Amino acid sequence: MKTIMVDMDDVLTYGNFSKILEDYLGYKPDYDSIKTYYIQDILGDKKEDFFSKFKDMDMYENATLLPDCYEVLEELSNYYKIYICTDNIWREIIEFAGNNLRNKYHFLYEKLDFIEPKNFIFVGDKTIVNCDIKIDDKIGNIDGAATKLLFTAWHNKDLTEDELKEQNVIRVNNWKDIKEILLNN
Ligand SMILES: [Mg+2]
Repeated sequence: MKTIMVDMDDVLTYGNFSKILEDYLGYKPDYDSIKTYYIQDILGDKKEDFFSKFKDMDMYENATLLPDCYEVLEELSNYYKIYICTDNIWREIIEFAGNNLRNKYHFLYEKLDFIEPKNFIFVGDKTIVNCDIKIDDKIGNIDGAATKLLFTAWHNKDLTEDELKEQNVIRVNNWKDIKEILLNN
């Protein structure tokens, strides 16, 4: 059976990070103009204050899976071995990253009841993971796979089709696209 590595944030779920950030700022930032991978970089000198509050929050509380994600993954699990691979390290508050691990584990355990928890991988450096197929929104994380699927996100939408082709990367915009590629071939 071929193996698939599936990223969590911005692939399975958006979590509630943007909502927490907007509540803190008191306004909705212009996401289209944000180019950085870490949205919190827009906080500037408010970052420390924000994270002192954020460290105790569960950003997956009330979070949902993206549309079609459950159904497609469940179907894929009949033909592939699925590993959910997610980075729990908070760069800004590294000593509290264990809270994030706990929250992520609970979310995955609750929402993806057909995937065994032994297939959850919590790792800061995903290059160590060797899977046939990798699905992630961060292009560096899909390196090394035979099939590389880049899930569209604000920080990768400017990558052109030519640039992706050069790196043998296929762009997917939603879970229906993933189904089309991995189940209909
Ligand atoms: Mg991600």
